[in-house]
Amino acid sequence: MSEPVSVNLNLELTDLCNVRCRMCGQAESPKVHKYNANSFMSWDTWTNSLDGLAEIEDEISLCPHWLGEPCLHPEFDRFIRYAFENNQDNRLFRHFKLHTNGTLLEDERIDTLLDCANMDTMADDTFRFVHFSVDAYTPRVYFDIKKYDLGARVYRNIVRLLERRVERGLKWPYVTAAFIVMPENQHEAEWYLHYWTQVFNRLELPFEVVYDWPQKLADTLYFRRLHQKDQDAADRLHRIVLDKLNILPLSDDGIFLEESF
Ligand code: SF4
Repeated sequence: MSEPVSVNLNLELTDLCNVRCRMCGQAESPKVHKYNANSFMSWDTWTNSLDGLAEIEDEISLCPHWLGEPCLHPEFDRFIRYAFENNQDNRLFRHFKLHTNGTLLEDERIDTLLDCANMDTMADDTFRFVHFSVDAYTPRVYFDIKKYDLGARVYRNIVRLLERRVERGLKWPYVTAAFIVMPENQHEAEWYLHYWTQVFNRLELPFEVVYDWPQKLADTLYFRRLHQKDQDAADRLHRIVLDKLNILPLSDDGIFLEESF
């Protein structure tokens, strides 16, 4: 019998997205998968897929996202609650993370995430992060990059998640507020840092500022590099912004992990 290994599993709730980030395949075509395009996962597929994980000895890290916005799924809350309510002693998955653009986190959904992340029926650190793709400070730059005027709502929702977590005296999940550095937003990086520093300080939350995928368990501001054809140009701009922000310089080129769970 082979040794159990760590497996990252993406069960994509939908391939649809409600914004069009200029650095994402969604900006080129809403049919990012070409086949079975623009659909929502069925309840049976979700529950059967999850239930089947109980038979697997490998350590599963589960993400309900690949190329779409998971919170667009009309039954997102029901799906996520099912996953956690059936994960006693981590029988289905060991870790879970949510990637979202943050546009669709109304108060009820925030409580769903907090409830799931803080259940005492599984390991304390099962649901560690919500990764938010923010990428802008002003609504105008948000619109330039994502083609929808939803920036103010995203900020409101992230702040609300943090406030609600504090109000309820809970620890999980941590927030990663990501800012992919690109020509359109590079002049806003310092404002972004300043704004979120004020929010974390107001809530008395310690936080990290990083240039590579967060590796520590903490709320984090992540100034991420852009991936594009001219990677050298993207890396140069990234470095300029990191220096402006006074983030620890990279010791070597190409050392990015760009992977975390
Ligand atoms: S929010 Fe995510 S899935 Fe949607 S367009 Fe932006 S990067 Fe792509």
